Amino acid sequence: MAARCQEMRKQGVDVVSMTLGEPDFAAPDHVKAAAKQAVEDNFSHYGPVPGFLSLREAIASHLNGRYAPNEIMVSTGAKQAIYNAIMVTINKGDEVVIPTPCWVSYMEIVKLAEGIPVTVATNAATNWKVTAEQLRKAMNERTRMVMLCSPNNPTGSVYSRAELEEIVAVLEQYPEVYILSDEIYQHIHYTPEVVSLAEFDSIRNQLILINGISKAYAMTGYRIGWMATKSRELWQAYNRLQGQSTTCACTVAQKAAEAAYLAPQDCVEQMRLAFQKRRDLIMELVRELPEVSCTMPEGAFYVFPDVSAYFPRLAKHLGSVSAASREMTEYLLNEAHVACVAGEDFGEDKCIRLSYATDEATIREAIKRIKNALLQL
Ligand code: PMP
Repeated sequence: MAARCQEMRKQGVDVVSMTLGEPDFAAPDHVKAAAKQAVEDNFSHYGPVPGFLSLREAIASHLNGRYAPNEIMVSTGAKQAIYNAIMVTINKGDEVVIPTPCWVSYMEIVKLAEGIPVTVATNAATNWKVTAEQLRKAMNERTRMVMLCSPNNPTGSVYSRAELEEIVAVLEQYPEVYILSDEIYQHIHYTPEVVSLAEFDSIRNQLILINGISKAYAMTGYRIGWMATKSRELWQAYNRLQGQSTTCACTVAQKAAEAAYLAPQDCVEQMRLAFQKRRDLIMELVRELPEVSCTMPEGAFYVFPDVSAYFPRLAKHLGSVSAASREMTEYLLNEAHVACVAGEDFGEDKCIRLSYATDEATIREAIKRIKNALLQL
């Protein structure tokens, strides 16, 4: 969709993009300074495969000492951390339970590992959160991993402590099953707290914790993410895989990440507050869209409205038998010149995903255009 946007812009079409999966802010100045300093200090050589000890120490203290530096692996973005963790744990035929809607890469990585994604559909009634009961039903003797993501992409849902307690009560019954918790949006939330699965001692040996600097510090291009695990075996396998594939994450970026963790965290809070204002604005506007429903996101920077009421009219307009989220995003791009992502990509075909990692004027313009296009149907 981003490529289509660029193409249309080249042809002079004024496209509004609501597709951005990253903060629109620049990286904080002290991070940039640390990166420049690292260049000056000749961080131009290979680094240790797990990442610099100094960075892993900074991450360990960020985790309040729940993990030691030698239980952490630094990788090229949270994406590589997820990829490596799945590659070293999932064998052919292993089942991986994935609540949907979910981030696009989970299922594809599981399939690359020849695992079987077992999706568990959630819905707006539970704010797109999987229940303990649903998880229990999806698990069996072939289950090797359960993946969770809070705050969630694309729904913005955040699991409360009580909800996680219920989920943990199920997961602790399966000590052989890994729990991959993707907490990359941990610091972008509008709830009083975001509870990490690392807080639950009973599942600590099963947990594969994923996080990074991409979203919280607006450093997506630096490509630094990490994984923490109590399993020595998993850590070592991951270490071997990374050692034979990418060697280590970019050393200059690692020094910048270290600065991000060690400096005062005001920049994170400033960006969080800006996102909250935008969340409030976009929700106010989306709720005015006739026949559209949308749950209130509690974290990340996406809204995930249900636009399915328009599908029959859209199908008629297109002269086709049926239409769903893909046709809707095409229609919005062609008619309203607004780019957004089809819910189908996340496993929920009723919805579309709009990113509000953009300025307020763009948000207003996008929703105005979407409204006009929907009313034409
Ligand atoms: N997990 C989720 C849920 C994401 O949305 C993203 C980025 N879009 C990632 C992981 C990957 O993060 P990174 O850029 O650090 O690889």
